Amino acid sequence: MLHFYYTWSFYCGEFSRRAPPEKINLSSIIEQTRETYGVDNWGAGYFGVNRKGNLVVHAPENDNLTADVFEIINDLRKRDINTPVLLRFPQLLFGQIRKLHNAFKKSIKEFDYEGDHLCVYPMKVNQNRAVIEEYLREGSRYNFGLEAGSKAELYAALALDQSKDSLLVLNGFKDRDFLKLAFAGASAGKNVVIVIEKMSELRHTFSLIDEITAEDPDAVLPMLGVRVKLYSKGSGKWEKSGGEAAKFGLTTTEILDIIRQLQEAGRIDMLKLLHFHIGSQLTDIKRIKNAMKEAARTYSKIRQMGIPIDYLDVGGGMAVDYDGSRTSFESSANYNAQEFANDVIYVIKMVCNDENVPHPTIIQESGRYLSAYHAILVTNIQDEIETVVEDIDPLLVDGDDPQVVKELLDLRESINSKNYREYYHDALEHREELFTMFNLGLITLEDKGKGEVLFWDVCERADQFAQQKKYVSEEFDDLRRLMCAKYLANFSVFRSVPDNWALEQLFPIIPIHKLNKKPTEYATLCDITCDSDGIVDKFVDLHDVKPVLELHKLSKNEPYYLAIMLVGAYQEVMGNNHNLFGVPHEAHIFIGEDGHIIKKVIAGATLADALEVVRFDTVQLRDNFRRAVMKRIKDGALSTKQGNGLIEFYESQADSYTYLSPNGTDS
Ligand SMILES: *Cc1c(COP(=O)(O)O)cnc(C)c1O
Repeated sequence: MLHFYYTWSFYCGEFSRRAPPEKINLSSIIEQTRETYGVDNWGAGYFGVNRKGNLVVHAPENDNLTADVFEIINDLRKRDINTPVLLRFPQLLFGQIRKLHNAFKKSIKEFDYEGDHLCVYPMKVNQNRAVIEEYLREGSRYNFGLEAGSKAELYAALALDQSKDSLLVLNGFKDRDFLKLAFAGASAGKNVVIVIEKMSELRHTFSLIDEITAEDPDAVLPMLGVRVKLYSKGSGKWEKSGGEAAKFGLTTTEILDIIRQLQEAGRIDMLKLLHFHIGSQLTDIKRIKNAMKEAARTYSKIRQMGIPIDYLDVGGGMAVDYDGSRTSFESSANYNAQEFANDVIYVIKMVCNDENVPHPTIIQESGRYLSAYHAILVTNIQDEIETVVEDIDPLLVDGDDPQVVKELLDLRESINSKNYREYYHDALEHREELFTMFNLGLITLEDKGKGEVLFWDVCERADQFAQQKKYVSEEFDDLRRLMCAKYLANFSVFRSVPDNWALEQLFPIIPIHKLNKKPTEYATLCDITCDSDGIVDKFVDLHDVKPVLELHKLSKNEPYYLAIMLVGAYQEVMGNNHNLFGVPHEAHIFIGEDGHIIKKVIAGATLADALEVVRFDTVQLRDNFRRAVMKRIKDGALSTKQGNGLIEFYESQADSYTYLSPNGTDS
């Protein structure tokens, strides 16, 4: 629609501004697209672009093993699995587990730290069975365990295989049944730690201890922990999770009270863990260090009271650098895993040495960091939503047209690189005039139409001139946003990236093919829900947030696929049923010597599944529909054949996918 050669070079720097496009060779175009989409910034080494111009996923620690995402999608299509589809790469989960484990191992060695490091994966981040089971498969090698925050999560955890020395930590508010399940877990041989969040939980715990020991004095009991409310706060969107006003955590007096009660009951030996969690996606390492200092002091003081706490649970919060900027911006983090580990280990060690207490084993509840990378959502662009009318033949304007239309034509014909700003302002004025005249009944609908087209023509030209300048003023950036293409993407923001809608959290988005061709369009994405909030109009950028994304021109006969990256943490379970778009298809991919292997395909929700969520019974719906059609047949409005055809079609649709059939796949 628009010619964006100059603006493309504006983003890509000097090089392309000087070299005409035809002289750029293929590999440098691929390099440019990698830079445009920031693959190397946010990809953590897992993602790249191959010579065919397709997005690839690398197996961790081995760049020679790659999977071509476009090929995966084509293979899935052959199995009638169409986009949107969620691709899971368990190897990336393994990669993150090893990164975290190795980072701590290295710091522990480097700083002669005398404790250990263990992780418990917070199930709430992604409770999908496949994710948890794959996590345990790799994590068990390092005694990584689980963290459950609700009865349902605990219920599942109790029946999963954990390694013998791994922990099962229980946070969140608990009733008596929750606690009883925890005791059952301990009896079944799990290393359960109940983290006391409220005084009432301690009361129930005491009564359960009495109940169980009355039957069997030697019964194995769970361990206990306490969650402290730190004065230190995190940074970023979840800053409120920490600090004195936080929802969770016990005050100093409450903790001292718990200790006193446990001592009086002769159960102080059960207290093994001190926990805090100052929020998710902690963007600033300084804040993390401060929290560590405060927590390590608290640990030390309790330890000095002669209470043998073994574990210091530093919570979750390790951030994912979604935009790749390595800054303390909300969607980023100004540290990496090694710096995080170094700071945690070093700070805790220094405080413990200062206080003369043993170094605790550090428990970490990192969820986002472990699971974000492993899942990507691939969707297709269904269409473009036209907002700006294109091309008008200037000959259509003649002497009879109103003055305002003629003037707009004149602007369009004589706009140039010197006057474009002034002419753009004039065009804005003329448009106002156009609408005023229309509202007063002075011009026809046709005149209005012509005027609008000419106005956008002037804008388009003004934009092109503006973008050639070294500094593009804000008004032309706004104009760009107004004029950009709107691509209709076959997915639901509410279902698949709810945090983008609710929290303006950014996720990298990149085409999975054509990356050896310059993206010539600027676009925002609209999803297929009937909700004007269902859009993506903020995109990752190294220095800022981009209001538009560089994308390729759509062609009629060819699908165009985009991947929304790093959606493995929180999005799946938080995604909702808005407009009854159900869970998308899912495929599990193994990256091997010969590329990808599709290990498993799980079909997404059908119309019947989506309707069941809101308590519709498809059998009943079918009966009702059938009855309505039968009546029409009886009344003679439909032939029996027509009626049966209708019923058959209606019934068959119950098993269809809730998303749109991609263009070109309709039969
Ligand atoms: C949510 C939560 C976590 C996970 O935080 P991430 O930022 O995903 O690492 C850890 N601990 C507790 C108590 C939580 O509530």
